[in-house]
Amino acid sequence: MFKALVITKPESGYRCDLTELDEAQLPVSGDVTVRVDYSTINYKDGLAITGKSPVVRSFPMVPGIDFAGSVMQSDHPTWKAGDRVLLNGFGVGENHWGGLAQMARVKGDWLVALPDTLSERDAMAVGTAGHTAMLCVMALQKHWTEAGVAPGSGEVLVTGANGGVGSVAISLLAGLGHTVVASTGRPQEVEYLKSLGASAVIDRNELGAPGKPLQKERWIGVVDSVGSHTLANACASTRYGGAVAACGLAQGMDLPASVAPFILRGVTLLGIDSVMAPMARRVAAWEALAKTLNREQLAAITTEIGLGEAIGAGSDILAGQVRGRLVVNVNR
Ligand code: NDP
Repeated sequence: MFKALVITKPESGYRCDLTELDEAQLPVSGDVTVRVDYSTINYKDGLAITGKSPVVRSFPMVPGIDFAGSVMQSDHPTWKAGDRVLLNGFGVGENHWGGLAQMARVKGDWLVALPDTLSERDAMAVGTAGHTAMLCVMALQKHWTEAGVAPGSGEVLVTGANGGVGSVAISLLAGLGHTVVASTGRPQEVEYLKSLGASAVIDRNELGAPGKPLQKERWIGVVDSVGSHTLANACASTRYGGAVAACGLAQGMDLPASVAPFILRGVTLLGIDSVMAPMARRVAAWEALAKTLNREQLAAITTEIGLGEAIGAGSDILAGQVRGRLVVNVNR
C-alpha cells in the first residue's frame, strides 16, 4: 500500500483526498514503476486539486504534474531498478496518474535521468515551473544570439515575479548578467525579489490594464507567466527586435493585443510549452538548470510541505498566496 492524493468526481461535486492505494491499482499503461521522493505544487496542480479548471481528464486521478524518485521496476529498455529519474509534463497528473503519491507507474519514454548534481528535492524545487522558466530563458538566449543582443544591453522584464516561474526566471537571468525588472502585485516582497537578482521592481498594475498598442520601448526581452493585458503591454513596450517568451495565464487566457509591436518593431512572440516539449530540449533545460541555477537562491525560494498539506496548497497557489516554489515531500 502507498499514500496518494486522489481526485474523484462524485455525482455532485469534486473531491481531492489523501488516501491509501494498492500497487496493483497503478495504471497498466505505464512500463516503469517509480518510488517517488518529491513532487511539487505548480499552478496547474492547483487547478487540478481544486477543480477550478477542467485540467483533469479522467477519474479517479492522482494529481501531480511532476516528480523525482528512483526506478523500482522497469519493462522499458532505457531504465533499470535504482535509476534516479524525474518527470514533468506529458499529461501526467491530468490524464495519467501523477506524482502526488509515494509511487507512480509511467511510460519510460517520458522519464528524464536526474542530472548527477541535482538531488531529488532540488529537482522538484525547480519542478515544472522552474523548468518552464529555463525553457523561456533558452528561447530568449537563442533569439538574442541571432539578433546580436548582449547581456547588459537592456532590461529584461519578468512578470508574475513572486511565482514559481517568475522567481526561477529572475535568478537565471540575473545569473547570466541581465538587468532584470520584476513585475509583482506583492510590494512587500521587494527585498526577496532583489535577493534573487532583480535590479528593480514595478507594480503589476502598470501592466495589468488595457494599454496603447505601442508604448515606450523598454525591454530587450520578457518572461511572461501572466498573459492577458500584461502580455499585451509587455509586447507593446518591448524594444525594436526584442522578444517576449509567453508561458502562462495567471491574469487570463486572453491576449487583447494589436499586431503593431510585431509588424512595426519586429518584436517576436515566443510560445513556451513544457508539457510536450521535445525530449532533447527538455533534457538540455534540465542539464542547464543543474549547471547554472544558484543553489542558495533555489533554497531561498523553496518551501517544503507534506503530502496532506498539498491539498490546501492547491487553493493557495490559485489565490496568488504562494511565494516561489512549494516542494512536496511525499513521505512526510
Ligand atoms: P504561481 O502561482 O507560482 O505564479 C503566478 C504569479 O502570477 C503569482 O505569484 C503572481 O505573482 C502573479 N499573478 C497571479 N494572479 C495574477 C493576476 N490576476 N494578475 C497578474 N499577476 C498575477 O504559478 P506558476 O509560476 O507555477 O505558473 C505561472 C503560470 O505559468 C501559470 O499560468 C501556469 O499555468 C503557467 N505555466 C505554464 C507552463 C507551460 O508549459 N507553458 C508550465 C508551468 C506553468 P506576483 O504576486 O508577484 O504578482
